[in-house]
Amino acid sequence: MRRREFLWAMGGTAFVGKLPPVLVHEHVLVDFVGADRIRPGRYDRDEVFRVARPKLEALRQFGCQRLLECTPNFLGRDPELLARLSDVTGLEIWSNTGLYGAGAHKFIPAFARIESAEQLAKRWIAETREAWRPRFIKIGVNSGPLDELDRKLVRAAAITSRHTGLTIASHTGDGAAALEQLEIVTAERISLAKFVWVHAQNERDHDLHEKIARAGAWVEFDGIGPKTAAYHLECVRFLITNGLLNRILISQDAGWYHVGELGGGDFRGYTYLYSDFLPLLEPAQVPVLVSENPRAAFGA
Ligand SMILES: [Zn+2]
Repeated sequence: MRRREFLWAMGGTAFVGKLPPVLVHEHVLVDFVGADRIRPGRYDRDEVFRVARPKLEALRQFGCQRLLECTPNFLGRDPELLARLSDVTGLEIWSNTGLYGAGAHKFIPAFARIESAEQLAKRWIAETREAWRPRFIKIGVNSGPLDELDRKLVRAAAITSRHTGLTIASHTGDGAAALEQLEIVTAERISLAKFVWVHAQNERDHDLHEKIARAGAWVEFDGIGPKTAAYHLECVRFLITNGLLNRILISQDAGWYHVGELGGGDFRGYTYLYSDFLPLLEPAQVPVLVSENPRAAFGA
């Protein structure tokens, strides 16, 4: 396959990479009302479209090709809205299948409390045959030790991954929960290269970051923004120093339209990573972190 060169702007300097950048963890819309109360029509889709569009267009200016929208079902996942925004901005926006058990299971619908991991996986696999097609599995679990329901979500994700080849991105409370998930995924015969430890920055023990990266899973430092950049940089540099550049993912966990707040509330833009954070890294590391690793983790 012939790789095309792509020119994009980074911190005001022209940068030649091999393939354009991908953001692996952002949000366009989130509704925190809870699985028992969420329903269509809680927001005006046209208004969300108007609010989100310029944020996504600004991101396109940096040459970003694709954004993985990590809002799970029952938290405001809206593939139709994402498709409209993708059409008008030219940005690929990937949505997901799965369920979010973090937040003390507030976002878990009643059926998922009763059904088995196999039954949940069957639902998620069925979604991959929908026209909008989820491109990854997004789950969420609380801190370790994991309870029964969280363990079930991880097993359901692993089964879904085995049948579809999709990668699992798991919002994870802490390093103990990450280690426990690796065991579950491995027991289901899924390669750890298909597992992403989301919010790894919430675990302050760098040795755990290293241990999990060395085991072959992806360690994702998201939530990068002006207030956290120094600590995120420390996390990234620690793994790079230990020879693990090729297991790191970085993103901002930015956005989003907050359903229920006036005008969608404080919508954080998606460009800080490119404008301010990447220039802090060695130039040779940048294409690996923003393009090669995301594509290796989730697909080219
Ligand atoms: Zn998120």
